[in-house]
Order: sequence, then C-alpha cells, then structure tokens
Amino acid sequence: MAQLLDGRVYSEEALQEIKVQVQELKNQGVTPGLAVILVGEDPASQTYVRNKGKACEKTGIYSRTIILPAQTTQAELEKLIRELNDDKQIDGILVQLPLPDGLDEARALACIRPEKDADGFHAVNAGNLMLGQPGTLPCTPKGVIRMLKLAGVEMDGKHAVVVGRSNIVGKPAALLLLRENATVTIAHSHTKDLGDITRQADILVVAAGKPGLITGDMVKPGAAVVDVGINRINGRLSGDVDFTSVDPVAGWLSPVPGGVGLMTVAMLMDNVVALARARAEKKA
Ligand code: NAD
Repeated sequence: MAQLLDGRVYSEEALQEIKVQVQELKNQGVTPGLAVILVGEDPASQTYVRNKGKACEKTGIYSRTIILPAQTTQAELEKLIRELNDDKQIDGILVQLPLPDGLDEARALACIRPEKDADGFHAVNAGNLMLGQPGTLPCTPKGVIRMLKLAGVEMDGKHAVVVGRSNIVGKPAALLLLRENATVTIAHSHTKDLGDITRQADILVVAAGKPGLITGDMVKPGAAVVDVGINRINGRLSGDVDFTSVDPVAGWLSPVPGGVGLMTVAMLMDNVVALARARAEKKA
C-alpha cells in the first residue's frame, strides 16, 4: 500500500506556520489582506470561496469576499479590480475562475497588479516562474511541490511526468519540478500511449480532469502519484487517479478529497503573507 500524501496533515502544518507569520506581520502593523471576487453562482466556486474565507479566519488574514451577479459586465469587473489594486487593506486579489460566459478571464487577470496577484496567474508572474525569477507562484502546483517535500519524496534527478498542460496547473507544475532538478515530461490530450509515458514516472502529477484516467497498470512500482483532479460524479468528489488499483503499486499517493485541494488553499494563504511581507518591507 502506498504512503498517503495526506493533504489534511500537510495543509494544517502549513496553516499553523502561516498563522505565526501573520501574527509577526500584525506586530509590525501590517495585517495581510485578501480580496476574493466571485462572479455568478457556480456551486463549486462558491465552495472554494467559502474554504478560502475559512482559511483566512484560521490564520488571521483579513478577508473580503465580493460577490457579483452573473450579469456583471467586463467593465464593472475591471473597475472593481482596479479599486482593489489601490486598496491599502488588500495585499492579494483573487478572481475565482471560471468566470461566467461573456467575461474575458485573461483580460480580468491582466487587470490585477502583479504585486497583488494572489493566484500567480498574471503574465508577469508566469514569466517570472518561466525565467526562474522571484514572483508569486500558482497555488496548486506550489502545493504539489510542498506536499512532495514534506513527504520526503526525492525530486532531484528523478523522472517526473505531468499529465495536463493548463496554464494554472500542468505547465507551472512542470516548471516547478524542473526547478527541483527533475527530468520532466509533459503529457496531454494529444499524447500517444499515455500509459507508456506514465509508467516511466518516478513522480506522476495528474491534472487532466478525467476521472479514473490513471490506473494501476499505468504506474511504475514505488512512484509518487499526486492526483490534482477534482471531478464531481453524482455529487461526490473523485480524482483523475483510480485510487483502488494505484494504491497497491505506488510508493506515495494523494487522495481526493483530502489531498492537493487543501494544499492549494494553504498555499494561497502563503502567497498573501508573502505579498503582505513585501508591503511591510516597503513600509520599513
Ligand atoms: P484543463 O481542462 O484546463 O486542462 C486539462 C489538461 O489535461 C489539458 O492540458 C489536456 O490536454 C489534458 N488532458 C485531458 N484529457 C487527457 C487525457 N485523456 N490524457 C492526457 N491528458 C489529458 O484543467 P485544469 O484547470 O488544469 O484542471 C485539471 C484538473 O485539476 C481538473 O479536474 C480540475 O478540477 C483540477 N484542479 C484541482 C485543483 C486543486 O486545488 N486540487 C486546482 C485546479 C484544478
């Protein structure tokens, strides 16, 4: 049986550390602040936003959730983002994705000032990641790496395979694994014989949004398997990895729920604290 990459334990550990850092910042007169913008009534997004608010409460971060109707125009959304860019109580701004049809996500994200980009999705931060420069990292891939490190999974010189090439998970996860000196392969929907590739992975990160895509016969014995997928089937959450068949083969395995999702929220808090620290340093 694989060792469980337990997001509950690791995220709790991270949140406790963040709580201490928040208190230190407050002692310097800086309260980290996060603004979350939710447009429309997507139930999954509502849950994510609620969880982010709870994590702020837990760590002492000031949080402001702004809920806008689905009919909000691009101009109204961008005006709000610009106001938050200038709001002294707010260190990080997050626009919950996906936005309702008719709103342009890329344009909305581009409006967030890079120094307030809590999710690390702005082109400047994506570019910094690409160039190996300091910047805000996207929360999910950052959480994947934190999880692997906390579990003591060696990445240096290992073959990491990332399934998925999205801008928010797959691509940044591959770049972060490269930063850890792994040899990285990216597989995606056009990849021929996925199993042939995944069986070569010492570290397998799966972010495809396809329930049960990865089965035990596609995994190298002893590999670390991180399941990023979140799929809702009849109201229940499941990942992209078939836990039952992969568990006896893998060396480490993250569950869904209780895995990467919790790390993502913790890393968002980490990003907000880092942004607030930058503000404190400017003030000093
Ligand atoms: P996306 O739809 O933008 O990208 C999916 C990627 O998977 C694409 O690059 C595509 O090429 C690839 N893919 C699709 N089918 C494939 C197949 N059969 N074989 C190989 N590759 C395939 O999705 P995303 O935003 O990257 O999210 C991926 C999954 O991760 C979703 O289930 C999403 O809900 C989940 N997610 C979880 C968290 C978290 O915090 N745990 C955060 C973000 C996304």
